Amino acid sequence: MHASISEMKNQICWASKEIYQRGLFNIGEGNISLRVNNRDEMIITPSGNNYLNPLPENLVHVTFEGKIITEGQKPSTEYYLHRFFYEQRTRVNCIIHTHSTYASILAVQHRSLPIIFEEMLVFLGGGVSCSEYAATGTEELGVNALEAMGSQNAVILANHGLLIVGRNIEHCVFGSQLVEKMAKIYVKSVAMGKINEIPKGNVSRLLERFNQEFSTS
Ligand SMILES: [Zn+2]
Repeated sequence: MHASISEMKNQICWASKEIYQRGLFNIGEGNISLRVNNRDEMIITPSGNNYLNPLPENLVHVTFEGKIITEGQKPSTEYYLHRFFYEQRTRVNCIIHTHSTYASILAVQHRSLPIIFEEMLVFLGGGVSCSEYAATGTEELGVNALEAMGSQNAVILANHGLLIVGRNIEHCVFGSQLVEKMAKIYVKSVAMGKINEIPKGNVSRLLERFNQEFSTS
């Protein structure tokens, strides 16, 4: 059974607080959206969302063509990026975009996050690649991000931040936290010297669960 629009808005408010409280958003940056029940519509946080006290009435219900369905505030400027992923990956039902600190360090370094913990295989489908740089609001940003994401559920946007996609909002909230933690461990491990990735022989067994429960490609 599909969730109602008001249930979906409440889910986005829950995710906003959850991610803000974990320090992955500053006020005014990042965004969260949900696809509306297999339709060419989404509900998205407004430009400059107040994550500390998100209000359902401030969220924007908008068609992929940009027609506003219910009055809210101005949709996030990264609405085009969300739309691109919903159109290209039909199993994606939620998108979270953050500028979280450690993922953004990798974004500035144009570095990808290798597979350092098994959780990355199970929940994200592998490592997290960094895309080629493209300016915010351009179609190129989406094209580069999708290409770098491959069959995984996360991508680092060069000089920008992180994009997580998922089958539902719980997957995306968890994925946002997981990538930031993995990026922190990776950045600090690299500073200490050599890092060790998960042995390749163990990868396929862990990817089975990803394909069954979390994959969106
Ligand atoms: Zn951004």
